[in-house]
Amino acid sequence: MDNNNIASNKPKRKTTQIKKVKKKRSTGAVIAIRSAKVIGTLLLSLFLIIVITGSIFVTVLTIYVLNFANVDETITLDRAVVSSNISKFLYENPNYDADDPDSEEYLLYYALKNPGRKAQWIDLEEIPQHVQDAYIAAEDERFMQHDGVDFLRTFSAIANTLLGRTQGGSTITMQTIKNITGEDEQRGVEGIERKIKEIFRAINTEKVYTKEDILQCYLNIIGLGDGQQDIVGVQAAANYYFGKDVTELDIAEAAALAATTKSPATLNPLNSAEENKYRKEWVLGKMLELGSITDAEYVHALNEELKITGDPEFQSRTDVDEEELNNQGLTDWFMDEAIDEAALRISEKKGISLTDARAELYNGGYDIYTSVDINMQKKIEKEMQDPSNFQAYYLADDELLSCFICIDYEGNVKAVVGKRTEKKDWDEFNIATDGTRSPGSCIKPIGSYAPAMDQDLITYSSLINDKPIEITDEEGQKMKWPVNYSEYGDDGNWSYNDIFAWQMLARSLNTAPAQLVEKMTPAYCYNFLKEKLDVSTLTEDDINYSPVTVGGLSQGLHLQDLVGAYMIFGNGGKKYEVTYVTKIVDSNDEIVYEKSDGYKQAISESTAYVMNKMMQKVITESNGTGRYAKLNKTVLAGKTGTSSEWKDLSFVGVTPDYVSGVWIGYELLEKIPTTQYQNIGAIWKNIFGDIAETEPHHDFTMPETVVQAKYCTKTGLLAGNSCTSTDIGYYKQTNVPATCSGWH
Ligand SMILES: [Zn+2]
Repeated sequence: MDNNNIASNKPKRKTTQIKKVKKKRSTGAVIAIRSAKVIGTLLLSLFLIIVITGSIFVTVLTIYVLNFANVDETITLDRAVVSSNISKFLYENPNYDADDPDSEEYLLYYALKNPGRKAQWIDLEEIPQHVQDAYIAAEDERFMQHDGVDFLRTFSAIANTLLGRTQGGSTITMQTIKNITGEDEQRGVEGIERKIKEIFRAINTEKVYTKEDILQCYLNIIGLGDGQQDIVGVQAAANYYFGKDVTELDIAEAAALAATTKSPATLNPLNSAEENKYRKEWVLGKMLELGSITDAEYVHALNEELKITGDPEFQSRTDVDEEELNNQGLTDWFMDEAIDEAALRISEKKGISLTDARAELYNGGYDIYTSVDINMQKKIEKEMQDPSNFQAYYLADDELLSCFICIDYEGNVKAVVGKRTEKKDWDEFNIATDGTRSPGSCIKPIGSYAPAMDQDLITYSSLINDKPIEITDEEGQKMKWPVNYSEYGDDGNWSYNDIFAWQMLARSLNTAPAQLVEKMTPAYCYNFLKEKLDVSTLTEDDINYSPVTVGGLSQGLHLQDLVGAYMIFGNGGKKYEVTYVTKIVDSNDEIVYEKSDGYKQAISESTAYVMNKMMQKVITESNGTGRYAKLNKTVLAGKTGTSSEWKDLSFVGVTPDYVSGVWIGYELLEKIPTTQYQNIGAIWKNIFGDIAETEPHHDFTMPETVVQAKYCTKTGLLAGNSCTSTDIGYYKQTNVPATCSGWH
């Protein structure tokens, strides 16, 4: 035939040959040749498409496998892990009592995806052989022969995934892994990724576990719910669908159960009896074909009428303490943050997405240790919900918002409350961690005083003139800036008096911070806040005077960041990361994450202590802005903050064992009513005072790098013999002022 003729020619001569042939042929023959040509081209194109697609796929696969670090990863199938594959959030009791087994750790929360899940572990030897056989027949007929992967089925499944379809194709080993990891991306690249991961895990798992181990695990964790009930494992399913123990199932029931597995919601014997029956018959046929049942058993099972009970009261349950589980209710403010952080840590550790990490968290059987002080958490929640603690601002409309956070001096959050009202939902918006509001003057110790003192630009008793600096405004005009908050009543409220640094801070005058920022430059102060103190919400727009001097930040900041930054004033200048989770242990008792004890030395130990002493004056001076927070037994350093037009009030308190802070304001940035003046320091004290008074320590320890000395109140220098008016000051050993000559 012509076709063969063309095909047998060498490619380089092909075109010429066709042309020659064309001239001699009749019309019909020409059409035939053209058709052949078209078909040839089509075939060639198809071939190329397959080759190209295949190459792309192999390349992607290779790149993926080369980059995929965990090819050695196996999955734990032990009962303790799988049957209680529920993560627990715990806190280690600081008052550990060796004689009391409950005192070591305290269960806070089961990270349980679905508290209604029904499951009950059963060992393989108790599961009838025909139940095991029915599953092998239905799901993975070569299960006993393969090494974890049935490659023929797997590649067909991958091809289907590429085409956007979903197809099982997984062996029992792979399904087991999917169920344990909770990873279930089906389509596209993520679907292929999961499949490849599954292949490696399956092969590795088969090296570690016997077929019996794998089948036992599989039959205990497979999802068999009908869409209404979340049913896991053959025991719970036998209970639910047949009102029987799995040991009592006959061959027909076993086949009906195995028939359900492919798509439990649409193939279960209770709600989809017809569909189930059809697939059950297929399963029985397969069992017969594989020789796991006799002809007689097959016929008997085919004719058997199934009795489906669908008992919603059935008894199967998770291994979790039922009472605790039922009573755990909503997560508290702390737990929401701990869950977020735990997912983040797992995602970082395993190099997986946050979504994957969350799934893993809920199914992985982790023990997650948190830093919460559960009594403090409960106490602060209670105080925050008590309107009398906010009485002056408390309005009948209940719209005043507030949040509170307490952190220890290694960055461990002890308590956090995201709103003043009762928490009504899981993962509710938390103003302390997610809100961005203006800190007002609370920025001053961290934005200007601390970095300035660290570079010896000021001492405790430096005299600073209460005068503005000159800056250029947006229109390019030079202007005097900043005004002080109404202190004297004239234009800028500038007194032009020399005022001690500690007084400037205690009275919260704006001029001293502005002069310090001018000396250091706004960029320096911005970098200090961002790099040394981890203030996370800063933007380039904040490289300017107003943001770093008086807290006019472009986006505001999180109370958590603000309070976290203040930890340097209570712990010798060390900035630790602020965290909720201290340790994560996986189901093999291996530590997945442990909080590092690393920190940044943001300012020197001596700067931190002198700053602390200055901030104590904010509380103890009769005109100190934080005087209403004063405690009886415990020394307190702190700072108030008011944003422009009274939209935000903040107070951060530094006590010997904790740094804590409160914020109040309205969602729509309305002015906070000041008709019944209640200092924000008083609100902090209402909420945290009891805790602060009973802290383990009542004062800070002065380091050897700090000198306590009398200074002359005329010059701010060390008091000389003839200085008549003196006061006590605190100085860095490396930057003690000169002695006053007494000529004043
Ligand atoms: Zn003097």
